[in-house]
Amino acid sequence: MSDAVVIVSLGPGDPELITCKALKALQQADVVFCPTTDTSSRAMDILVGLGISEDKVERFGVPMSKERKRALAAYEAIADRIAQRFGSGDEVAVIAEGDAGFYSSVHYISDNLRLRNVPTRKIAGVPAFIACGALANLHIVKREDELVVIPGTSARDTLRQHMEAGRTVVVMKPSQCEAAVKECLSDEGSTFHYFENAGVSGKEYYTTDKDAIRERTFPYFSLLIIHNEL
Ligand code: SAH
Repeated sequence: MSDAVVIVSLGPGDPELITCKALKALQQADVVFCPTTDTSSRAMDILVGLGISEDKVERFGVPMSKERKRALAAYEAIADRIAQRFGSGDEVAVIAEGDAGFYSSVHYISDNLRLRNVPTRKIAGVPAFIACGALANLHIVKREDELVVIPGTSARDTLRQHMEAGRTVVVMKPSQCEAAVKECLSDEGSTFHYFENAGVSGKEYYTTDKDAIRERTFPYFSLLIIHNEL
């Protein structure tokens, strides 16, 4: 019997960007809980790419609902199911894209498991912004550079403040702040590295062309790394 439910980081989308430790945990698991949304399951695609048998995968819908109460109830139901499998002695893995401890909704599940006294442990993974940096062959930060990571809910002024301070800025979920990003695009001394679907074969997109970025409708799996000079 396992000592804990394992929260396994899958990496950003390329099955080869998972760690050996995470792959081993998936292979050893009796059941792998896998998040899906209405439109896609990137996590499932990664599992298939890794040769994990679909028979042991238990999918769960990720509540995209803005209605918080419903979303929380859904996470409680998933945690119940996970706790049940763990309680019956199974090796249980729960997967999360990128790194599981970095802006991942899997925390709703681990918080719920903690309330049920079910122990969890995490296996680290490659976060999307690191994969994006490599895709563009960037040195994300060097020497005394400062890096800030901001969520898509950030306001234009927050973004501009960091840019003016010469920091390197990673914007997560920029689909939520597309207008703010576009307003800052023409600022002098900045290079916008714009990515979509880093590491996902056939879907990857990368540009630093400001006109191209302006014309783009940012999808959910987009990300920016903004380099700024003082
Ligand atoms: N845990 C993940 C982040 C989840 S939040 C990590 O460690 O990277 C979801 C956001 O991550 C997306 O809105 C997008 O901004 C970014 N993201 C995740 N995968 C991505 C990919 N393959 N390419 C570009 N951005 C990605």
